Parts: sequence; C-alpha cells; structure tokens
Amino acid sequence: MSICYVNGSYEEKNSAMISIQDRGFNFSDGVYEVMSFFGNQVINFEKHIKRLEKSLGGLRIQKPLTNYKSLELILKKLIKLNKLDKGFVYLQITRGSSSRNHLFPKLSKPNVVIFTFTAKLDKKLILNGVKVRLTEDLRWKRCDIKSISLLPNVLEKQNAFEEGMYESWQKRKNLITEGSTSNAFIVNRNGFIQTHPANNFILGGVTRDTLIEIAKKNKIKVIEKAFSSSDLFSSKEAFLTSTTAQILPVVTINEKTIGNGKPGQMTQVLIRMYNELVKCQIHE
Ligand code: PMP
Repeated sequence: MSICYVNGSYEEKNSAMISIQDRGFNFSDGVYEVMSFFGNQVINFEKHIKRLEKSLGGLRIQKPLTNYKSLELILKKLIKLNKLDKGFVYLQITRGSSSRNHLFPKLSKPNVVIFTFTAKLDKKLILNGVKVRLTEDLRWKRCDIKSISLLPNVLEKQNAFEEGMYESWQKRKNLITEGSTSNAFIVNRNGFIQTHPANNFILGGVTRDTLIEIAKKNKIKVIEKAFSSSDLFSSKEAFLTSTTAQILPVVTINEKTIGNGKPGQMTQVLIRMYNELVKCQIHE
C-alpha cells in the first residue's frame, strides 16, 4: 500500500485521481521538486523550498500553501504513513484544473500532488563511475524553472540508456550546460572544480549548491563558468550531481576516457564530505 497526498487528502496512490482538465496534464503547466529523506528528516528542505518558490514565481502560479511549515508537516505525515525509513518525495504543483484554454484560468486553484518513492542507488556506479554522452541542448531558455515539461530531458536520458550510458550532457554553442537529470562538473586542468553558472540555462541543483558550499568551506576552489567539450576532454576528473544520484564520478565521455578512467580523487573526497553533511542533517 502506498499513500499519496492530493489537494488536502491522503489517498491510496493507485486509485488517487486528478482531473483530466488539470493544466499539468494538458499543458505541462506546473512545477515539481524531488527531495530525499532519512528517518523523517527531509534533506536540504529549505533549499528545495526556495527553488520551489522561484519556479512558482517564474510561471506565475499561486503559492498553494501560505506557510511552508505546513508543507513540512504534510511531508513528514506522508513519510510516516508510508512506513519508510529512507527514500524520496515527489511534489508537483500545477496551475489547477479548468477547461482547456492557453490563457490562465481566473478561478482555479493549484493542484498539489505529493508521493513518496524509493530508489536504490547502485553502489557500483559510485565505485566504478558512469559513462556520459554529449548532445545538443534542445531546451528553452528558462531551464532554471523546475517545470514538469521535461521532453528533451526524457528523450536524451532514453538515448543515453539505449547507448549503454548513464546520462547525456547537453551543450549550447559548444559549452556544456548540464545533464538531462543532473548537473555537470569537471576538475579542470588546474585542479579547480568547474561548473556552469546557475543562470537560466541550467537548473540550479540543490545538490550542486550544497556541493559548492562544502567545497568552499574546505578551501577547494570552485569556478562557476561554463566549460567547453575540449575543456571536458582535457579535464582531470568529471562528475555529476542530483538528489537521487547524489554525486557520481564520470569516467568516459562519448567513450573517451577522462583522467585515468577511474573515479577521481577529488570526486571521492567530495562524496565523503557530502555524505558527512547528510549525516549531520539526519542527526539535527
Ligand atoms: N538538472 C536537471 C535538468 C535535473 O533534472 C536535476 C534533477 N532534478 C538536476 C539538475 C539536479 O538537481 P537536484 O540536485 O536539485 O536534484
């Protein structure tokens, strides 16, 4: 049995319903967040909320809950009802339900759907690293909004899978923006961590943000500047970040080896530091 939250009520996930006039269903007119939890502690909750507010603002969708403390309580209740000790929460807010018309409806209220899910991270991916391919970035110019409109991401993730790779890294004018489901990093020739700046061409990942904070706290230099494919091929290490994958070493790009083809030292240090930080949040 799996319980989800739909507009104020807790329901069995398989039979929960939302209108076919939901604008998320008709127009992808909505935003989402994926958060991880351990015990009943949601990791990086404030950062996710901040991004959620930014996404809602970007699409001019009304804030459905006036107070995010109530959202935290809903998440905790859902985690308890599902009897999970760790996993992920998916939260989706759409502009609401109304007859299909591009114009914003005047009277509808946002639809809020929240459910939990579990996904086991394959330890082999952390130990051996993953393969990545490069592709053109076909997305719009508001990638900073965590919109539920994910077609280019879906297609490029599928293309990667069909080529035996974990992820596609997208590029605009030969500069790597980010992965289809994750942020992209290198340890450049000078040994500095480098990643695309958090502007409208990427989703400002919560894991990306956390990693940058950890690195800076530990006096590891981080440059938020886009890198090119040739920077990537001459980099010492590469890795990706996301809430579900955390930090994964990248060992080949388009089948070309990065560094010595094994997870890099700096990447492993960052993974350890990140795990420590998560542990601290669990015990807060
Ligand atoms: N970029 C894209 C396109 C993503 O889909 C994700 C994961 N949702 C990320 C970056 C990583 O974001 P986060 O660390 O907040 O999960």
